[in-house]
Amino acid sequence: MPPMGYVKFLGTAGARFVVARQLRYSAGTWIELGGTELLLDPGPGTLLRARKSRPPLDPLKLQAILLSHKHLDHSTDVNVMVEAMADGGYRRRGALFAPADALEGDDPVVLRYVRPFLERIETWDCGREHAVGAVQIRPVPHGHGAVETYGLVLASPEGRVGFVTDGRFDPQRAADYAGCDLLVLNVVLKDWKPDVDHLSLPQAGELIAAVRPRLAVLTHFGTTMLRGNPRVLAAGLGERLGIPVLAADDGMTVDASRWGGGVAPPTEG
Ligand SMILES: [Zn+2]
Repeated sequence: MPPMGYVKFLGTAGARFVVARQLRYSAGTWIELGGTELLLDPGPGTLLRARKSRPPLDPLKLQAILLSHKHLDHSTDVNVMVEAMADGGYRRRGALFAPADALEGDDPVVLRYVRPFLERIETWDCGREHAVGAVQIRPVPHGHGAVETYGLVLASPEGRVGFVTDGRFDPQRAADYAGCDLLVLNVVLKDWKPDVDHLSLPQAGELIAAVRPRLAVLTHFGTTMLRGNPRVLAAGLGERLGIPVLAADDGMTVDASRWGGGVAPPTEG
C-alpha cells in the first residue's frame, strides 16, 4: 500500500548542462497529499519516468499539473501530461495552474489545442489561495530572469509543504515559507555566484535556518552540486543547522512520516 502523503522526485536535474546530458533525469515531482495527486514542473522525460516508476504512476489519477515557470527544464512535458491526464484527450479532466506568461504572449508553452482537455486553467495569483482536492496552494513570487516564476506552499492534511523553485535568493522569502514542515529547495549551485538567478547551497542553508522545517530536501542540481556529491553536501548542511537535510535522488520518495505529517504507514515485508 502506498504511503498516505508523499513527494516523489522523478528527476533531479537542474541546469542546462545536466539536463542536456541527462546526468540526472529532468522529470518533474509527483506529489500526493490528502489523497490528491499533483505533478509539479513536468520537464523532459516526465511521462516516461512516471510510467517507468515502481509502482507506475498513473496520469489519470492526477488532479492537477502545477507549473512554477515556463523554462524548458520545467515545462517541456506539460502538453503530453495534460493529454495523458485527460485520457488522451478523450475526456475533460484535471486542472492546470501556471504563470500567465506560460499561457499568453508570444511564447506560450501550453499548446492551445490541449487546453480544452482541461476542466480548468488557473493563472497563479499571489493575492489568493488556489484549491485543488484536499490541497490549498499559495504561490510565492520569485525573481528569475525575464520569466514569471513562483514558489509554492501547499497546505494539506499531512502538513505544509513548500517548494522553493528556481529564482534568485531573497532573504524576505523565508517569511513566505514560514511554517513549512517539509521544505524542498532547487539548489543549482554549490557556491554563490553573482548575477545568477538560482539558489546556491549557502543561500539554501540561510533559508532552511530561517524557516526551520522538520525536513529539508535539496534537488534540481547543476554540475557544481553534482561534482560536490549532493548527499555529502546535504548531510554537512544538516549537521551544521541541526535540521535533517536530504539530497534528492532520481526516483526518491519522501513520505509524510518523514516530515511528521499524518500517520506513518505500516511497512511492508
Ligand atoms: Zn528556470
